[in-house]
Amino acid sequence: MHAERISYQELKALLKAIFLNNRTASETADILAENCSACERDGALSHGIFRVAGYIASLRSGWVDGHAVPEATRVGPSFIRIEARNGFAQRALCAADPLIRQAVGETGIAVAAIRDSHHFSALWPDVEPFALSGYVAITAVNGLANVVPHGGRKAVYGTNPIAFAVPVQDAPPLVVDQATSVMANGEVRLHALADKHVPQGTGVDRDGNPTTDPHAILAGGALNTFGGYKGSSIALFVEILAGAVTGGQFSFENDFTGFEGAQTPKAGQLMIVIDPNWGRSTNFEARLAGLCAQLVDAGQNRLPGTRRLANREEAERSGIPINCNELNRLRQLAGQRS
Ligand code: NDP
Repeated sequence: MHAERISYQELKALLKAIFLNNRTASETADILAENCSACERDGALSHGIFRVAGYIASLRSGWVDGHAVPEATRVGPSFIRIEARNGFAQRALCAADPLIRQAVGETGIAVAAIRDSHHFSALWPDVEPFALSGYVAITAVNGLANVVPHGGRKAVYGTNPIAFAVPVQDAPPLVVDQATSVMANGEVRLHALADKHVPQGTGVDRDGNPTTDPHAILAGGALNTFGGYKGSSIALFVEILAGAVTGGQFSFENDFTGFEGAQTPKAGQLMIVIDPNWGRSTNFEARLAGLCAQLVDAGQNRLPGTRRLANREEAERSGIPINCNELNRLRQLAGQRS
């Protein structure tokens, strides 16, 4: 691969220009560009520049509103409800951020429920900032129905990711971010692009039969949940938290009819932020450092998030490597007005 290395700021500016060229308000373009560049920088490649085409197609189709202005309301001491108004979840979360921090400061916990939102990215950028502030953050997002419940033959769930982040003494936050499907849909698409089979047990074809062909999974087939019936119940829990507690819609309620090319899932997101030292000191960060040390001592020398952080450090030193053809395409998209 011929790759050019560019800085995070350069990539962010490029992506912001692309969003601005595609029916997106400046504030939202800034938020999405930051999110997408951070994913590319950290090597979260299924949610970096690979997603640009999907964002553009969805915006151009009118399925998602790049100009939506979210409304965040503190409906109770610890409860914030956010109407994303068919805009992006990241912009909605940004609008709620001051209210979340205010609620945690006053009550020790905040629940933020976003509805009518589109989440097309990784979740770690949503939780990491709270852990950097010393809080525990947990989030769940539902999506498009492309995952079968355990034993089922028809997709009901989205790939329904969950993520959490916690502060750790003298270390970066511990961040875990994963789909509740065996594989994220973006990964299946990357396999399809490379014409590479996915491992056995990843998904089913349109008739509900097991397949390792990523094209068959994408063409009317579906993914399996991770961990058999137990993982299936976690996907169900995410569906309930993100699709029902928020007052949003379930994954199976997405309907792209009339929106040619649209890809972003219209769904919901639930965020819970906790001050772990609320009421009394739990010595939380030091204890987490001790827990991580135990994991390493037990033989888990690859903790969640370490791959991403290593990529981030490398990108900060030497730039973000991007395939030259891909970079040219982005530069063209940034230069042309639609
Ligand atoms: P992975 O299975 O690649 O990784 C899941 C988590 O496990 C990460 O925190 C990862 O850390 C960690 N991890 C990976 N390998 C190991 C290991 N050997 N030992 C210990 N920890 C490990 O993620 P998924 O494929 O499930 O999901 C990819 C992304 O897709 C996520 O960011 C998710 O939010 C996103 N997604 C978004 C959706 C949406 O609707 N917006 C839908 C579904 C998924 P590390 O990052 O360091 O590798």
